[in-house]
Amino acid sequence: MIPFQKSYGLEKALPLLEQVLLSGHTGGDGPMAAQCREWLLERLPCADIRMTSSGTSALEAAFRMMDLVPGDEVILPAFAYPADANAVLLAGATPVFAPVDPVRLMLDPAGLPALHTDRTRAILVIHYGGQCCDMDAILAFARERGLWVVEDAAHAFLARYKGRYAGTMGDFGCLSFHGTKDVVAGEGGALLVNRESFIERVGSWQCGGTNREAFLAGRTDRYEWVSLGTSLAPSELSMALLVSQLAKADTIVGGRRRLFRIYRQHLTEVLVRMPEDGPILSCSPSLEDVEENGHLFWLLFREGAAASDLLRYLSRSGIDARTHFVPLQESLFGQQFIRPGQRFETEHDIGRRLVRLPLFHGMTDMEQATVLTAVEQWLQGYPGRTGDERAP
Ligand SMILES: *Cc1c(COP(=O)(O)O)cnc(C)c1O
Repeated sequence: MIPFQKSYGLEKALPLLEQVLLSGHTGGDGPMAAQCREWLLERLPCADIRMTSSGTSALEAAFRMMDLVPGDEVILPAFAYPADANAVLLAGATPVFAPVDPVRLMLDPAGLPALHTDRTRAILVIHYGGQCCDMDAILAFARERGLWVVEDAAHAFLARYKGRYAGTMGDFGCLSFHGTKDVVAGEGGALLVNRESFIERVGSWQCGGTNREAFLAGRTDRYEWVSLGTSLAPSELSMALLVSQLAKADTIVGGRRRLFRIYRQHLTEVLVRMPEDGPILSCSPSLEDVEENGHLFWLLFREGAAASDLLRYLSRSGIDARTHFVPLQESLFGQQFIRPGQRFETEHDIGRRLVRLPLFHGMTDMEQATVLTAVEQWLQGYPGRTGDERAP
């Protein structure tokens, strides 16, 4: 079976994990977390970085910093992960779903004027699939109207837009090192703080609402509760894994990027040869302004049924491919946030119309060739015979 995704080099963490266990410091805020933070600070230009226990908690922290009140609105793409909308709701504000553009499948800046009201406070963008949004247009719109910008860069660690790293362009950036991402901590994430003025508040929020950091720095002689807060610190065990993964991050991203580009080159040629009304609409684009990190490679289908047929065909050929998340406006809990008259075209049924192909550093050229051949064979036979009948 060719797996959909496989973490690279997990065993390299064993000596570091042993070190943590022997040291006895298994909680948060230890030397492993400090090493991760230093690595990230050296690479990603931003005012401050906080290691967190997940990408979700980084998103939640970002919105908590904005003092949102009920009625405030945050615009985010309809094709997003539930954690994005949850972070808005948990901070007391209302999510407003924006359309995505059909090339990037990311927030379409052209849709922003129609959604902006006097209650809009922030825009949340998602750098889908390891590529980047059209940030110049989004940042210009936000700056003119005094809106915060949060980047969900969970897919886009080390991806760049016009030379700038994903997560460093808005007011806050959120990274995820979840076990399914490219560089893993098991569970873990990071909050990138791009405004000096937020550094102290974020520190207090993540230290359970205490003045712990000021106390440790000798700026106060009483360690106490000073504001609302939570605990965000990841365990040293997770951070030990992340230290070993960060040491290989460029190798991992480089390997994925190479495979991404092979998929891209090969499948665009295949799509060009496909008849106009063929089953596949498009695939992951190559964007002039983006250096992608190869997080995933997608094919977008006209109909969910054709995508399911390809998935069955691949599965029977020993290839594990996947669809992706149901767009928020079609999900059970998300429907209530649709505004009157709103239409979603690109996003319609997108969760079922997307197929993500296997992609991981360590995938062999032979494995990738097998996937490409299987996709082509399926396409040649569709719709005459179906994936069920034709599977070898
Ligand atoms: C994985 C993911 C998250 C959440 O990250 P966790 O570390 O799993 O909490 C948020 N947004 C997107 C787009 C993701 O893929």
